[in-house]
Amino acid sequence: MYHPIPSTHASQEETIEALRKPTLMSGYGEPNEMLSCLEHMYHDLGLVKDFNINPIILKRWLLCIHDNYRSNPFHNFRHCFCVTQMMYSMVSLCSLQVKLSQVDILILMTASVCHDLDHPGYNNTYQINARTELAVRYNDISPLENHHCAVAFQILTQSECNIFSNIDQEQFKRIRQGIITLILATDMARHAEILDSFKEILDNFDYSNEEHITQLKMILIKCCDISNEVRPIEVAEPWVDCLLEEYFMQSDREKSEGLPVAPFMDRDKVTKPTAQIGFLKFVLIPLFETIAKLFPEVEEVLLQPLWESRGRYEELKQTDDTMKEDPERLSSLSFLWSFNAILSNPSRQPTLPTFISPCLIVTVNVT
Ligand SMILES: [Zn+2]
Repeated sequence: MYHPIPSTHASQEETIEALRKPTLMSGYGEPNEMLSCLEHMYHDLGLVKDFNINPIILKRWLLCIHDNYRSNPFHNFRHCFCVTQMMYSMVSLCSLQVKLSQVDILILMTASVCHDLDHPGYNNTYQINARTELAVRYNDISPLENHHCAVAFQILTQSECNIFSNIDQEQFKRIRQGIITLILATDMARHAEILDSFKEILDNFDYSNEEHITQLKMILIKCCDISNEVRPIEVAEPWVDCLLEEYFMQSDREKSEGLPVAPFMDRDKVTKPTAQIGFLKFVLIPLFETIAKLFPEVEEVLLQPLWESRGRYEELKQTDDTMKEDPERLSSLSFLWSFNAILSNPSRQPTLPTFISPCLIVTVNVT
């Protein structure tokens, strides 16, 4: 069920200004507000004009997108909004409209909006281990991301929701391929592979090289997808609780079904500080440090909050550590070793369950 978007898509001036900033305090209370903001972004970026998008169809498409996100604790419409808003703010922060084509901007924004469509709340590991319909359909290859993408294009087959109806066949093919590539890139099982490829081209990055641009777009959507810690603590911390809630739902189900349980999802093994330190240190900070090499403006606005967040969680962990026993530390330490092994050896990724999650949390507990 949904409510109509207010007829004036322009929100208050301060909201519009705040929308361009990665420090936006929240994803806004009501779905209506988030829908209006998303609509505004398409207008503001010139996408409606440049691709001759019917404004009424844009509204209907967004409503349909909203209806196709489930009410999971984490992978819900608010997450879709936050990822897209972060993309919008990165377009502004990194002056991407000067460096990339409008087709690229349309691909970045639309892939962000669609990237977790119909997420069931149970990650790829669960899908594969439980041999779900999705895993069978996609042969265990990124089943969720393939599904999000398929749902996105199913929505576009409905003429009343087809924002691409005025785009010619050739351009549609290019846009479709771009969106598929970006949504599939959000599978964290491919994190090391995608980051390493981007690092290889970074020193000689060439904006006229289409392959380079594709890799940049993949890195950008990855940054936005896991960017909650960039936001103010009042916003970032509740997101960790939401993710843990979703993880615990999964691990409880895995236990009841006799399936393997990843330590970072187990309510008996994971704590918020240990999870976040590992995630910040080994995933988030290296990712944003890499993009900061191409866009130095990222350092102050996006990296600084990540460094601060790491410091905050380290302090919290110190407090926690005094209450922990040695055997627990040992078990977490061995988990860290396997985690490091994945990062340094991408070929091992598929055999380990820890990475097969769109938004990964790891248990790291070393002193
Ligand atoms: Zn996501």
